[in-house]
Amino acid sequence: MKAEILTVGTELLMGQTVNTNAAEIAQMLAEIGAGVYYQTIVGDNPQRLEEAVRTAVRRADLVIASGGLGPTEDDLTRETFARVLDAPLERHEGWAQQLRERFARRGRPFSDNNLRQAMVPRGGVLLENDNGTAPGIYLQHPGVVVVLVPGPPHEMRALMREKVLPRLARELVGNRQGAVLISKILRVVGVGESKAVELLEPILSEQENPTIAPLAKTAEVHFRITARALEPDEAHRLIAETAQRIRDQLGDAVYGEDDTTLEKAVGELLAHRGLTVSTAESCTGGLVSHRLTNVPGSSAYFIGGMLTYSDELKVSALGVDPVLIAQYGAVSEQVAEAMAAGVRSATGGDIGISLTGVAGPGGGTAEKPVGLTFIAVADQSGVLCRRYQFWGGREQIKLRASQAALELLRRHLLDDRGG
Ligand code: AMP
Ligand code: MG
Repeated sequence: MKAEILTVGTELLMGQTVNTNAAEIAQMLAEIGAGVYYQTIVGDNPQRLEEAVRTAVRRADLVIASGGLGPTEDDLTRETFARVLDAPLERHEGWAQQLRERFARRGRPFSDNNLRQAMVPRGGVLLENDNGTAPGIYLQHPGVVVVLVPGPPHEMRALMREKVLPRLARELVGNRQGAVLISKILRVVGVGESKAVELLEPILSEQENPTIAPLAKTAEVHFRITARALEPDEAHRLIAETAQRIRDQLGDAVYGEDDTTLEKAVGELLAHRGLTVSTAESCTGGLVSHRLTNVPGSSAYFIGGMLTYSDELKVSALGVDPVLIAQYGAVSEQVAEAMAAGVRSATGGDIGISLTGVAGPGGGTAEKPVGLTFIAVADQSGVLCRRYQFWGGREQIKLRASQAALELLRRHLLDDRGG
């Protein structure tokens, strides 16, 4: 199947908005085995948009257009497709009513312009948008399937994932390969994307069904496994098989599936082991505590945290020996260890975890560059400290440090299991 992605918006042409939708849509289409032959960007200009639409529907079997579905005059996508495909716009009364009700609830005035967002080219299916006022449209036309999705990336993403991809899989790929499309995400930490891809090379090179898409996140990698099959059971079986092969290669680096965050995985281990943890943070400003407490039920294992940013507070709240700070500096293995042991005894938790580092952008030296961070874990058998060199801006470094701390804690709990 020859697919074309048409992204509409002058801001994209000018480079003011990065065209992330095209990249995301292309990756999604790869998952269902549709080949993208062209990506076109066109501005909010009636003639050029019409030309781009004519070209796309002529040369592609599937056209996915994003953007230009707003209520204003320069949003022309819907009207242009209707004209080119000779499918006059008809009002979808259900959506018109939903829009009226939404506006009324928020006390916003409703105008005729808003009603434009309830117009659907004849023969098209309206795809309800839970995140915005512009619905998606799915239109099966002789020779071409046309999908229109709104420009805001989170609206596009939800519509594509929840409404468009399953439909495409059913109606297009379905003839050939199966009727359901089911995905699972494996979440990997502690192994970089290129290393993980290298380890999985034998599996990735033969992938067809399921497909496997690596997605690099900050300090973790996700692998989205997508299977097509005639029945859900069969898709689940295919996914389970591939997931097991990935787990065999990556082992414990796979920390969770789907929406299981690292903090949730750590929380489950703590709860399972019946252990409590407390934190002593400096450079991360409480981010580790924040993430731990993002998990419902974290009170079962999280006692609390101390945010000891200044040297004085490290001494008075955690009992860090000022001599250590004077001798080795606040960002040092010795101080990290004293912080972890200190917060453990101050709070009576089973495990104390600490971080001290240089978040930047200033404050780095040759000996202690920006990004240098020490993370320590203390328990009843002693203290373990690791040295890290993170990169990126200040927030990136904080995020990477919090990730490393959670991962160190997870490793500690895994290594300790059964002990
Ligand atoms: P529109 O649906 O054309 O009204 O677009 C609404 C907003 O979505 C724009 O202001 C952009 O910020 C964003 N947007 C539109 N198209 C894209 C795209 N291809 N990639 C990323 N963001 C986009
Ligand atoms: Mg626009």
